[in-house]
Amino acid sequence: MKFREYEAKQIFRDAGIPTPNSELIVSAEEAAEALSRVAEKVVLKAQVDVGGRGKAGGILPATAETVDATAKELFGKLIKGLPVEKVLVEEALEISHEYYISITIDRSKKRPVILFSEEGGVEIETLAKERPEALRRIYVDPSFTTLPDFVVRNVIGTAPKEIGAIVKKLFDVFIKKDAILVEINPLVATPKGIIAADGKVILDDNALARQGISENRDLTEREKEAEKHGFSYVELDGEIGVIGNGAGLTMATLDIIAYYEGKAANFLDVGGGADAERVCHAVKLVSSMPGVKVIVVNLLGGITRCDEVAKGIIEAGVEQKIIVRIAGTNEAEGKRLLEENNYLMLPTMDEAIRAAVEVCR
Ligand code: GDP
Ligand code: MN
Repeated sequence: MKFREYEAKQIFRDAGIPTPNSELIVSAEEAAEALSRVAEKVVLKAQVDVGGRGKAGGILPATAETVDATAKELFGKLIKGLPVEKVLVEEALEISHEYYISITIDRSKKRPVILFSEEGGVEIETLAKERPEALRRIYVDPSFTTLPDFVVRNVIGTAPKEIGAIVKKLFDVFIKKDAILVEINPLVATPKGIIAADGKVILDDNALARQGISENRDLTEREKEAEKHGFSYVELDGEIGVIGNGAGLTMATLDIIAYYEGKAANFLDVGGGADAERVCHAVKLVSSMPGVKVIVVNLLGGITRCDEVAKGIIEAGVEQKIIVRIAGTNEAEGKRLLEENNYLMLPTMDEAIRAAVEVCR
């Protein structure tokens, strides 16, 4: 789960990392008063979850004279398609230099990695591509829960010592918050010292309970619905909806779709022993994804009964074409029910998936 900038900065503040003075507002009317408490010169920063917000017009400077109009303008905007509902009124910074710092997990090396650059402010992907030598990568022993000074020195090199203290505190945040990413881009040098001008914290979703967070608000309505029913569900961007039972069979379905050059819209594993009601929920869920033209239901009837699957599909009664491959317990009864209701049931997954890809052509 991603924290918004203002939340990330509060986390940083609590950890002792210097951040600019700021106040969060939810309407343009609050801007002038917030400004009077924050600073004479401010930047209004849209709290929307997109990269490159600055370039997209989501960060506007303001003073007491201009703040009303500027806040109105910002609240009325769409930033890369997202409405502006919250704005951070933040003291404008006199920036003399921008650094980049982040900590994430390198999965292949199975350890945290600290990325540091004396050329911050830009998109890190661009920097890594164009000037890889300007981006330092320091791997951290996964048993470390705090950052030893020798590692800090390797990270910052000849950069100001103050930054070392910030790196140490940022690592504490990374560990304490069960983060998969903490990032300050840019970390800026100002006459008042080194300050985190931006902030990003992403939590490991598996640690939500330990962090005392009851709901992952980054989930779409459909993902929340899937979670409610206990489906393993991932949204992709193709046009063939997929329902399977068991992660292996469902993945194999995606693989065969890709093999025939189709594009899957999702991964949905209904789990074992799905009854008509569960299948019905799954079909309706997949059907509600925009862009789904056809749905492949590929289920193996072990403890799952094929007649129950058929009933669930019929009950859902969605408008897209559904192509079914079910095999196993009560298969004949399932087939009879489906054919009676004009659903296409094919004997092998290969045929079913080929037929689905054909529908999209
Ligand atoms: P982002 O575009 O969403 O990454 O937002 P940032 O907070 O990182 O701001 C983008 C850029 O705006 C920074 O890299 C700075 O170069 C520039 N900037 C200029 N003045 C300010 C200021 O007073 N505060 C902040 N945060 N950024 C500023
Ligand atoms: Mn930034």
